[in-house]
Formats: sequence, C-alpha cells, structure tokens
Amino acid sequence: MKIIAYGIREDERPYVENWQWANPDVELVCTDKLLDVESAELAAGCDGVVAYQQKSYSADLLKRLHEMNIHNLSLRNVGVDNIDAEAAVKYGFKITNVPIYSPAAIAEFGVTQLLNLLRRTKEFQNKFAKRDYRWAPNIASELNQQTVGIVGAGHIGRVMAHICRGFGARVMVYNHRPKPDLVKAGVFTDSLDELYKESTVISLHVPAVKSTYHMLNRDAFAKMQKGVLIVNMSRGSLIDEQDLIAALDSGQVGGAALDVLEDETKIFNKDMANQPSNYPAFDDLNQRENVLITPHTAFYTDEAVRNMVEQSLDASRELILTGASDKLVKLG
Ligand code: NAD
Repeated sequence: MKIIAYGIREDERPYVENWQWANPDVELVCTDKLLDVESAELAAGCDGVVAYQQKSYSADLLKRLHEMNIHNLSLRNVGVDNIDAEAAVKYGFKITNVPIYSPAAIAEFGVTQLLNLLRRTKEFQNKFAKRDYRWAPNIASELNQQTVGIVGAGHIGRVMAHICRGFGARVMVYNHRPKPDLVKAGVFTDSLDELYKESTVISLHVPAVKSTYHMLNRDAFAKMQKGVLIVNMSRGSLIDEQDLIAALDSGQVGGAALDVLEDETKIFNKDMANQPSNYPAFDDLNQRENVLITPHTAFYTDEAVRNMVEQSLDASRELILTGASDKLVKLG
C-alpha cells in the first residue's frame, strides 16, 4: 500500500522516518508541498493521503482526488472546518483526524501566557530593552489570588483547570452540557453569566461552532469584572476583536493572551518581516503592552507533533487495510 504525506515540515521528519521504519508494509512518500489541485498529481497511485494545512480542502481538490480513485484522507490535526464537507460526502471520502494529540501542550501554554500577563513580562521586557531597570509602576498579581473561569470542560479545559488549581487559584468551569464529576468536585457552574461575574481571568476552551461565534462580545465583556484578563488558546472566531479593542480601551478588559485570531491565516506561520500585516486589528492589539499574541503555537511541542504524525499515519494505514478507524470524522 502507498501513502503520501503532504506539507511535511523538518520538525516532523524524524517521526515520519520512525513510523516508516516500524511499518515496512507501507510505501510512504513525503512532500513539503501543501495539498491543492496542482500538487494532488503527486498522489497518483496512492491509497491514502495525509495532510495538515490551513489551506482549504476545496470541492475541486476533493473531486481531483476522487478522479484519481483516492478516498482516504487523514489529517494530522483536529480541525475539519477547512474541508468542503458536502463535496467530501458527495465523493465518498473517509476522513480521519487526530482529536487528542496533547491537551497539556495547549493548557500549559495557556497558563504560561496567563502568568506572563499577571507578571506583566511584556512591559518589563520593553523597559529592559531600553535599559530601564526600575520596578515601578509594573507591580504584578499572583495566580493563587485569581478566580479562573474556564469555558469548555473538554480535554484542554480540564487540564487548564487542574494546573490552575495546582497554583492555588479558585477555578470555575462552565460547559454547555453539565459534567457530573466537575459538579461533584464543586468547580462546575451551569451559568456562563455567573462565571463572567465571578472570574478575574476567563480562559476559552470551546470549539469554533455557530453557538460560540463571537461569544466574547460587548455584551459579554459588560458582564465581567473590570480589569478581567482574557486567555484564548482556542479559536479566533470566539472573540469579536473590535469589541475586545473597545473593552481594552475602556479598561473593562485588563489584558489578553491570544494564540488565535479571527484572520490569523493572513499572517500566522508566515515570515512577515518587512511586510505590512494588512490586519489592522492585529496591529492595534499587538502594540499594546497588556496584550500577548502568539502565532497559534500552543500546540507546537515535540510530544504533540509526534502524536499528530504517528496517529494520522496509523489512521491512514488502518483506513486502507480495514476501511474503518476510530478516528473517523462525521461529515455533514
Ligand atoms: P474538546 O472537544 O475536548 O472540548 C470542548 C468542550 O467544549 C466540550 O466539553 C464541549 O462539550 C464544550 N462545548 C462545546 N460547545 C460549547 C458551548 N457552546 N459552550 C460551552 N461549552 C461548549 O476540545 P479540546 O481538545 O479541549 O479543544 C478545545 C479547543 O482548543 C478546540 O476546539 C480548538 O479550537 C482549540 N485548540 C487550539 C490549539 C492551539 O494550538 N492553540 C490546539 C488544539 C486545539
């Protein structure tokens, strides 16, 4: 059997090579090219395709693969929002993802950035670069004194809650479906308004779906404590960026750590040196000392990358051999 893996980065190669060594029954071809209608030609004669990209899996691309009799697509990531689901169903695709590659990678980074906000490290670094070594007026706050409101009690939200509790913070967790174990532990609330009212930090861990689009907007910010800190390691569409800017201007929001932005594909994972961003909201947010932006790197650890590579290749091989996989994504 033959599998082609698209968009393979240098940091993925060692894991790809290990996997090939352990699976000699598979002829594995790798390319650093992303998968599109043109590069699809490279998949001729393959039984499965493995990919990870922000670029869309369009109807044209899926049709092209279908014409080449390829119907097994295995993603190295979780999100399937860039797949034309209608076309995937129409052309009979079986698609797998890697739903849990390392919740700790994202949660640990969320806490890191929260601590950076609380300790005001961006302000200190800016002062330090100017050889200003004075302490005042950048006095910090402690995590153990915070009430951290976690929205979304899935894999990542739970680890985030666990780490924050380890630091001694009070933790409140909201999920649209109640979680009995968290109710029993006394950390669950079924009221988002209560979480907004009580929390000094709000951290988002829900998926980008219709019901979560712009869930943090002007109305939501107005329900929060003045000076609340916002952490978003999930998806850019959860926050209305213009409303966030207004809330930062008024001081209603005291700071934000954002690993994701609404239009991040314009700039993230690209070398933008000497280029304008053409993303005014990013420019506005990025120049603020109380806003920390990272280019969707929360997931980017050895552990997570290894799991993404190995589990996607395993799923592709399994699909080819058996036509099934426990990582099959429900489309449509
Ligand atoms: P998950 O599916 O395990 O958990 C999501 C939780 O949100 C579930 O408990 C679900 O019931 C709950 N939920 C869904 N809709 C809700 C709503 N409207 N209100 C409240 N709760 C709701 O997902 P996860 O693995 O914990 O990941 C969370 C998000 O993190 C993902 O959706 C993804 O967008 C993001 N993520 C980011 C990175 C990164 O590098 N920054 C990496 C991986 C995942």
